[in-house]
Amino acid sequence: MITLRGLPAKGPIGDEALEIIDEGGIVVRDGVITHVGPFGDLKNEGKLHEFDQPCVMLPGFVDAHTHLCFAGSRANDYSRRISGSSYEEILASGGGIYDTVEKTRQCPEKELLDLTLRRLDRHVQEGVTTCEVKSGYGLSVESELKMLRVIRQADQAHPVSLIPTCLAAHVPAKEFSHPAQYLKHLSSSLLPKIIDESLANRVDIFVESSAFTPALASDYLEQARLMGFDIAIHADQFTCGGSALAVKFNARSADHLEASGDTEIQVLAKSETTATVLPGASIGLGLDFAPARKLLDCGCCVAIASDWNPGSAPMGDLLLQASLISAYEKLSNVETFAGITLRAARALGLYDRGQLAAGMKADFVTFPVTDFREILYQQGKLKPNRIWIGGKQVT
Ligand SMILES: [Zn+2]
Repeated sequence: MITLRGLPAKGPIGDEALEIIDEGGIVVRDGVITHVGPFGDLKNEGKLHEFDQPCVMLPGFVDAHTHLCFAGSRANDYSRRISGSSYEEILASGGGIYDTVEKTRQCPEKELLDLTLRRLDRHVQEGVTTCEVKSGYGLSVESELKMLRVIRQADQAHPVSLIPTCLAAHVPAKEFSHPAQYLKHLSSSLLPKIIDESLANRVDIFVESSAFTPALASDYLEQARLMGFDIAIHADQFTCGGSALAVKFNARSADHLEASGDTEIQVLAKSETTATVLPGASIGLGLDFAPARKLLDCGCCVAIASDWNPGSAPMGDLLLQASLISAYEKLSNVETFAGITLRAARALGLYDRGQLAAGMKADFVTFPVTDFREILYQQGKLKPNRIWIGGKQVT
């Protein structure tokens, strides 16, 4: 058992810090872990089930940044990109996010729900037990609410625990002549409805020259904060500005950070904002990874998420992506596992999961190996063979 308990919330961690329990046991009551320790010590804790096959157990994975509620495919954009067009060129010529917006707006609610559930079926098989899901392909009050309602239905219908985020400020809606008008419309007409229906308590915005400038984002986030929303920001993907704003607003997380330099990293390191890196977007765009090693060495809390979306990160395989960024950025086993468990949970403001410890939600996975190092060594090809969510075995 790799418990991941007792680890620091921020900064670098060496594998020697890992707590490993040989022949471990875990006791679960009402969906919560009550004891973790050597199996032999737990004999008085009621009926115990013993696995005869050796395995390594870890906490369930937390994917802290996805856009997996969407309709359509962007294989055409991808083909253009691998033929040499840039993300921003594709967006400017009407492809990119607007193509997915069109298809998601037209998609009936039931079909959008089916698409979302199918992706969650795959995600859970790959060990993800908690998953953040953003809206952001509606870009109108009606379609954003449709997406958030679908995410809520998916949460109710699926064992994976979903954390919804309003990303209506993904790119400006084309119906508005100025991005500022669109953001005003969102804060006056959409955010209050989200509160009324309790659809989300998190607001995200894409801070980038092709989306919203830091100045415009600042006004919008101020409104969101006054309404009580937690903040997350798509920050420093191509140009810097978003991470400083994230720190200013005490955001839960600043996500992407591929363009972050020393100044941005120092500011993040001094804050309580989690730095969430998204290797799937770098792989999908064929660009460099975010400076995860430097972020850790400077003292940041680094989470790793899949960014599963139809455009820049269509793969959606969290463990595979985490193992690749660990190879390129030189992250230890424990830094990588922490990035998809407890540190990812922290990025979502969740402190009840991400470790095998008493009081934690009973979400855990096993891999059919005897040495935990096999998991990253096999670079995502080794999948979990058993998964529990809230103490219930789901596969
Ligand atoms: Zn994203």
